[in-house]
Amino acid sequence: MPSARTKNLIAQDKRHVWHPFTQMRDWLADPEPLVITRGQGSTLFDSDGRAYLDAVSSLWVTVHGHGHPKLAQALSRQMAQLDHSTLLGLANEPSIALAQALVQAAPQGLTKVFYSDSGSTAMEIALKIAYQFWQNQGGAAAKKQSFITFTEAYHGDTIGSVSLGGIDLFHQVYQPLLFPTLQVATPYGSGEPKEGARALAQVEALLKRKRGQIAGLVAEPLMQGAAGMLKAPAGLLKGLRKLADQYDVLLIVDEVATGFGRTGKLFACEHEGVTPDLMACAKGITGGTLPLAATLATERIYKGFLFPYADQKTFFHGHTYTGNPLACAVALESLKLFKTERTLAKLQPKIEFLKRKLPVLLERPHVGEIRQVGFMVGIELMKDKAKRTPYAYAEAIGAKVCRRARDYGVILRPLGPVLVLMPPLCTSITELEFLLKVVEASVKDVTEK
Ligand SMILES: *Cc1c(COP(=O)(O)O)cnc(C)c1O
Repeated sequence: MPSARTKNLIAQDKRHVWHPFTQMRDWLADPEPLVITRGQGSTLFDSDGRAYLDAVSSLWVTVHGHGHPKLAQALSRQMAQLDHSTLLGLANEPSIALAQALVQAAPQGLTKVFYSDSGSTAMEIALKIAYQFWQNQGGAAAKKQSFITFTEAYHGDTIGSVSLGGIDLFHQVYQPLLFPTLQVATPYGSGEPKEGARALAQVEALLKRKRGQIAGLVAEPLMQGAAGMLKAPAGLLKGLRKLADQYDVLLIVDEVATGFGRTGKLFACEHEGVTPDLMACAKGITGGTLPLAATLATERIYKGFLFPYADQKTFFHGHTYTGNPLACAVALESLKLFKTERTLAKLQPKIEFLKRKLPVLLERPHVGEIRQVGFMVGIELMKDKAKRTPYAYAEAIGAKVCRRARDYGVILRPLGPVLVLMPPLCTSITELEFLLKVVEASVKDVTEK
């Protein structure tokens, strides 16, 4: 039974808070939604003191763990110094230091940093920069206005980033508001090489057919996350880079989910040695503490905006909190932790551990497929594994398994029938063992009764 305090919190929440991606009718009917009051390492505590393993990194953001003292110190130091000052016409120290650090850490050639607040805005900015880059050149280049995207892509929830996306469930209702893109059927899934070859051929056919009309190619590196953790065929990113160069269009890579260690390297682009023209970062950038995003650009892109003032070729875009010193200071400290705590080196045996142990789950009759890239895992549940029949949407099978996992002390959030495991990078082997045990028990309880 929830305490009186918890009951009161829930009542007030239900009165006033509208939750994202949540059918509020179900939320209102839920007798005991959790109220989280504390976080420590990979653990969250609810208002009645119960502990849960945060196996989705609080929606893919937590990196070094909750309540990291170094991040707390960086925040309070910065707070005492300067809380906020605008980047419109002024500079500030943390945003300078972070830009320098990001450029150093990012794939070679990305040298400019444009700040914003979320993954959606980081992609919106990449999109607008890419579009205007060609407009600024004028002449034939100004005809480069379209984007090639993949179905099942997810780039955020603002109208521009929704236009780039391809998840019907999230995007369909807004269709009349969106601009059209040239969509190629997603090659992401089990990571089949022939899918990669097929998709690259289709992209190239579009580049040929629409020669001189394409502004850029847009892709998530290595994993389509929100689509349900679909794996890219090896070489896809490299292939896109090659085509972008060949047809002189821009490559826009969305590292919002994959960035900051999630795939085992700091950025997923590193796995294929690719430098995009524009790269969007958000989620893990502050270690999962404060909203901040960055769109990184190459020298070539940046120079495409240097014109006399009167030409009106400025990038007319900026959010009020762009370059917020508090968020930048914490992000800088988070990047430092990757070095001082050897985060990526320590992560490798844990990735191997998952690789070794995850296949055990395939022994369950309704676990159809497991897709892993580093610390990003999708476990797809299927009604009939042999026939690969999916569960009906209305069954909300993923949600049911996740709800069960909560009873065992693990916070999970599904993507349809796919269970997502994306624990903070600091999660220990012991905690991972516990996580896998809970996933197995929850899947059994819900799908095999
Ligand atoms: C989460 C996500 C976004 C959107 O980020 P927000 O901060 O939620 O706006 C964009 N792209 C990818 C790949 C994501 O996973």
